[in-house]
Amino acid sequence: MAGSVFVSGATGFIAQHIVKQLIEEGYTVVGSVRSTEKGEALKKNVGDKFSYEIVKDIQEEGAFNEALKKHPEVTVVLHTASPFHFKATDPEKELLLPAVHGTKNALKAVAEFAPQVKTVVITSSYAAIAPADKEIDPTFTITEETWNNISWEDAKANAFSGYRGSKAFAEKAAWEFVKTEKPNFVLSIVNPVFVFGPQAFDSEIKAELNTSAEFINNILKQKPDEELAAFKGAFIDVRDVSKAHILAFEKPELAEQRLLLANGRFAAQDVADILNTKFKDVLGGKIPVGTPGSGPEVTSKLAKIDNSKTKKSLGFEFASLEKTVADTVQQILDVNGGI
Ligand code: NAP
Repeated sequence: MAGSVFVSGATGFIAQHIVKQLIEEGYTVVGSVRSTEKGEALKKNVGDKFSYEIVKDIQEEGAFNEALKKHPEVTVVLHTASPFHFKATDPEKELLLPAVHGTKNALKAVAEFAPQVKTVVITSSYAAIAPADKEIDPTFTITEETWNNISWEDAKANAFSGYRGSKAFAEKAAWEFVKTEKPNFVLSIVNPVFVFGPQAFDSEIKAELNTSAEFINNILKQKPDEELAAFKGAFIDVRDVSKAHILAFEKPELAEQRLLLANGRFAAQDVADILNTKFKDVLGGKIPVGTPGSGPEVTSKLAKIDNSKTKKSLGFEFASLEKTVADTVQQILDVNGGI
């Protein structure tokens, strides 16, 4: 089923894997990027099947109109662009508004200027699915049906609630758009938990990585006597996330679904245990050890995640924590020649 796919935010961590995989599968890709420099850097890595349009800021009214008008060959739109960081000092301005307006702008542009597009897939998040107060309730089960119903006011409170709110409000705006505008396309949503795994290209290994990969990179930057961060959650490998985005438009039965991408819980201790065992020769004595084996005790206090519906409909096995962590770190060590 080759054709032409538009990927917003094409230079992002997840999007680069999507672009790479789409091209490997015979698609041509038009990406939106924020600068010529970033577009050229990606083109150098993926080749001539990739072209790009500049969209400096997704929240500007009509941000995607020109880009889509120029590409009548595009029949699928994957909207991945959205701010993902926990550094905002003004969460409304830096996270909530760009995420919501960016999503609305993408959908409006497709409906108005790309009526040939049949499917839109949006990268939402577990952040839109998990109610904040339930995350630490082990009796609660999170599924494709649950929602983070945070209020706009509460979302403005800090960078974390700002990011979580940005994904919830953006996804709600997308479903609302489809319900009220009844556009020509069907909508599918991908809701990943923390996404780990290698960068799509070695050239993307920088001192600081994208937000989710940096959680692992950060352990490599810690001194052995430092305490491990109280970081915990659920994980999925980035290559599984890109595969799910592609299946989301290739498999008609995934239309109008929320795909909850998760392959289990983890705590920072589990990551440290993998690093201290698998990379003992290189990392032994250089990074924190923590309390080996105590990760499951931490994660047993968190809500359960049941994404059996998603797993069944996608029909492929997700990568293990060992693999996703090991591949993330191996690439960093290879590119940097150690730590
Ligand atoms: P990322 O590497 O930071 O990618 C985000 C992309 O969005 C970048 O290309 C970024 O461009 C672009 N972008 C952000 N704000 C923009 C704006 N105002 N105008 C134009 N472009 C903008 O992060 P990622 O991890 O790949 O995230 C991609 C998507 O997955 C996001 O929607 C995120 O919420 C979602 N997600 C990620 C995870 C995860 O753990 N990684 C989990 C669940 C959901 P620049 O880099 O040029 O600024």
